[in-house]
Amino acid sequence: MKREQILSHIQSDSIWDIVIIGGGATGLGAAVEAVTRGYKTLLLEQYDFTIGTSSRSTKLVHGGVRYLAQGDIALVLEALKERGLLLQNAPHLVSNQSFLIPSYTWWYKPFYTIGLTFYDWLSGRLRFGKSVPYSRQNTLAKMPSLRRKNLRGSVLYHDGQFDDSRLGINLVQTIIDKGGTALNYMKVTDFIKNNGKIKGVVAENLETGDSFSIKAKVVLNATGVFVDKIIQKDNPNATHIVKPSQGVHIVIDKKFLQSEYALMIPKTKDGRVLFAVPWHNRVLVGTTDVPKEKPLIEPHATDAEIDFILETVGRYLEKQPTRADVKSVFAGLRPLAAPKKGANGKTKEISRKHKIITSESGLVSIIGGKWTTYREMGEDAVDKLASLAKLPPRESVTENLQIHGYKKEINHENPLYFYGADQDEINKLIELEPDLQTYISEALQINKAQVVWAVRAEFARKVEDVLSRRTRALLLDAKESRRMATEVAKIMAKELGYDQKWIEKEIKEYNELTKGYLLNQE
Ligand SMILES: Cc1cc2nc3c(=O)[nH]c(=O)nc-3n(C[C@H](O)[C@H](O)[C@H](O)COP(=O)(O)OP(=O)(O)OC[C@H]3O[C@@H](n4cnc5c(N)ncnc54)[C@H](O)[C@@H]3O)c2cc1C
Repeated sequence: MKREQILSHIQSDSIWDIVIIGGGATGLGAAVEAVTRGYKTLLLEQYDFTIGTSSRSTKLVHGGVRYLAQGDIALVLEALKERGLLLQNAPHLVSNQSFLIPSYTWWYKPFYTIGLTFYDWLSGRLRFGKSVPYSRQNTLAKMPSLRRKNLRGSVLYHDGQFDDSRLGINLVQTIIDKGGTALNYMKVTDFIKNNGKIKGVVAENLETGDSFSIKAKVVLNATGVFVDKIIQKDNPNATHIVKPSQGVHIVIDKKFLQSEYALMIPKTKDGRVLFAVPWHNRVLVGTTDVPKEKPLIEPHATDAEIDFILETVGRYLEKQPTRADVKSVFAGLRPLAAPKKGANGKTKEISRKHKIITSESGLVSIIGGKWTTYREMGEDAVDKLASLAKLPPRESVTENLQIHGYKKEINHENPLYFYGADQDEINKLIELEPDLQTYISEALQINKAQVVWAVRAEFARKVEDVLSRRTRALLLDAKESRRMATEVAKIMAKELGYDQKWIEKEIKEYNELTKGYLLNQE
């Protein structure tokens, strides 16, 4: 369905079973859950799908080795199960990633081998592979870039690696495939109430300024770090339930790692872990954990965070990356549940477990969790919504639901592998119009057909949608993505029926956006 058709569909007088506010991992997971249980479902995202935290993760589908060290076994068990299900249901986007934890003291190897063997054991039948200790020689054979002085060896373990935004877009397509409705650039601005109870939402189409009154039996607030803003529209006196925490990543050339293995640094100066993970032919390094007061859609990395990452990873590598080597830097805000009174306020100690809160008016809000557990969060949320709205109870079917694009055999050498089954559709576009095969960026291996496909089948509305989330150009090489913007804008304008003025405005806005991702401004 085209956007115009969906808009007229929303305008009709019908009542939705469930309306979901927020098109990040949490909202999308809940919408897939609701629609596959047969509930009439509408999801509204104020900007683009996954524009917030859900496009700024470390791209790991993991049980959380760190939570194991903290003794949070229930959380690890839950995440390990979901990790296995994600690999099973979206093999085109999730892969089994080998990690090395290098050891520079004698006791590290036995300590981590025991811990990680327990991690493997907890995974049960959904195990990704066995954790094993490696000798110094074997470690350097796998990751020659590691600092050699005092290296005693390493421990190998397995976790999952994925593309967060691509999964988000495939979830939108799954919602649509299953008969649900999801719209981007639709901002919820108010609630419809009757006798103090929520009966729907008011939403604004940000492209036209048109306002919509949408009736619903029940509403889910899945707006991540913006959750309190929505709660306060319902009740201005409500206390805050979210505590944002910023995490930053940098992207560098793969020559710094020289390995298909990921590096896991088990203890940073501030007692966290840091990863350097191969991702789309580059290396993603992060992250940090800095409490923030305000929710922002486009948070910015601080110099201190960038220096911390460079310094920490540099201590483990023979060739240390500098600021000049950073191809892109991006920041995201974790929507963590605010600690109860008496806690020390440090976000790293706040539980990552999700929470569901229901207000007196019947608004259901969900916070916390992580990408890995998005499905389980959706299941819990829909259980709550269905009972609150007295919808006919129905069993969840998402554990074995194939996500849009599902394809079992994946050739990772193919630059379009992450489209899964949709690759055939993109090839059909190229067959009809061979010029679409031309690269917009040879370095990033992104062609014109991907832009056309993003508009026609993946709901892209702005240049930023294509360069940041349908392809990952902005995160992989911000400068190169800036160069690509003009060509992308022209193709999109043709597809969407926009004029030269739109093209110019989009290029200007995109250039402005890239400033936050470029360390080396020119
Ligand atoms: C640095 C970092 C690294 C991480 N790494 C990992 C990892 O490796 N693996 C993992 O499993 N998890 C990871 N996470 C956690 C994971 O990314 C988050 O838990 C998840 O993305 C949160 O999704 P969300 O949908 O709750 O929030 P968001 O993605 O922020 O989505 C909320 C959405 O609501 C929309 N919205 C807000 N207000 C309105 C409104 N009025 N109307 C309509 N829409 C609205 C926003 O625009 C936004 O798109 C990481 C998080 C961070 C910050």
